[in-house]
Amino acid sequence: MFIHHDYINDLLHETADVSHEEIQDVLNVAKEKKGLTHKQIATLLNIEDHDQLQELFKIAGEIKHDIYGNRVVVFAPLYVSNYCVNNCKYCGYKRDNTFARKKLTREEIQNQVKVLERMGHKRLALEAGEDPVNCDIEYILDAIDAIYTTENKNGVIRRVNVNIAATTVENYKRLKDAQIGTYILFQETYHKPTYEAMHPQSLKGDYAYHLHAFDRAMEGGIDDVGGGVLFGLYDYKFEILSLMLHNDHLEEKFGVGFHTISVPRIKKAEGVDLDMYPHMVDDRTFKKLVAIIRLAVPFTGIILSTRETAAIRKELLQYGISQVSAGSCTEVGGYNDEDHQDMGTQFTLEDHRTPLEVLKGLVGDDYIPSYCTACYRKGRTGDRFMRLAKSGQIHHVCTPNALMTLAEYILDYGDKELHEHGFDLIQKEIDKIDNEKVKTLVKNNIEKMKVGARD
Ligand code: SAM
Repeated sequence: MFIHHDYINDLLHETADVSHEEIQDVLNVAKEKKGLTHKQIATLLNIEDHDQLQELFKIAGEIKHDIYGNRVVVFAPLYVSNYCVNNCKYCGYKRDNTFARKKLTREEIQNQVKVLERMGHKRLALEAGEDPVNCDIEYILDAIDAIYTTENKNGVIRRVNVNIAATTVENYKRLKDAQIGTYILFQETYHKPTYEAMHPQSLKGDYAYHLHAFDRAMEGGIDDVGGGVLFGLYDYKFEILSLMLHNDHLEEKFGVGFHTISVPRIKKAEGVDLDMYPHMVDDRTFKKLVAIIRLAVPFTGIILSTRETAAIRKELLQYGISQVSAGSCTEVGGYNDEDHQDMGTQFTLEDHRTPLEVLKGLVGDDYIPSYCTACYRKGRTGDRFMRLAKSGQIHHVCTPNALMTLAEYILDYGDKELHEHGFDLIQKEIDKIDNEKVKTLVKNNIEKMKVGARD
């Protein structure tokens, strides 16, 4: 086991009464952007002072800007099945909730994908409840194939990330062969007693099996894994330090840590009483913890879903978030207006904007929404991606690609306003490219797109 509860509790104990000066010393170290020790992370988790919090946000913002520039990756989740044998206390899909369960047929998946493609999406996260009978690995593999092969006039979905229950090395090998992008699995909570209490009489209730899922995924050949914690289940300070230990474990054993970290907070759901959760994280603390993750693992993507409001998403993009979902629906079959039924949802959402509205918001704030999947398609995954990211060279590849995918989106799905603001932003960004060859390439490619060429 690599999550040593005693070690984490000792760190939390040692840093519980840190002084203003001790926190300031760590902020000064953080400014050097050379990473942080566990004790330094634990120290920053104690920031309460307004000015120190602002300083933390400023450093996180600089790190984010150095590494990601102003690019923001955009994706959508696709729920294919809500059959679930688990009884996770916090989840609307728990087996005790009695609603008509549904899994999409191949044709229904294709229809959902067509709707998502019409929204302009190129990256999906496939989501499913756990049910070895109704939603086995064959079903998931067929769903992935259905997604990758559903074309519309503007192309196909280029990357399918997968968020399904912890499984075997053999099944991870098959997911790898099916060319998934990142395998995503949230630990929910790293605190073993809480984990067990939250997953009563559930397949998912085996803490060690869930915790070692990424070890098995990497043994199965998957090199991009995405972790996360469901904030609200247990003390956020314990969870952040645990995420770091998990990341260190993967780096030590497989040479690469988390590709992404997700930061969901518990939301209202059918059969879920939010008053039962004494560890709910308020907005101020939430912003702090995202900024600390950015400082602690500068090269790891941080994902924020539509569980959060547009206002918080906008603010957190400044301090560390690098990927956002847009236009999401957590209902199985929910993207398909025609045969929309009132089915169970997993939890409620707070940002109901369409992808077009999300993109207009991003462009309005000078971000480059990116649908780029070139790294994945060129095999720049796992430690190859991390090496490139850490060398800083990735910048020169990502910005031009992001600009081209933005141009493609505007031409295929944009309205008048996005045309105007989006192409202004693209021009401004092209002017900043210092390599003349790259500059010409981007300009020429965009001109070709304007007369119909596509990736
Ligand atoms: N069944 C898979 C599993 O067990 O890992 C897929 C997970 S589910 C589709 C995605 C995530 O939604 C869960 O891992 C959990 O963190 C989150 N979730 C569940 N209930 C939630 C709630 N009430 N509010 C916010 N997020 C929730």
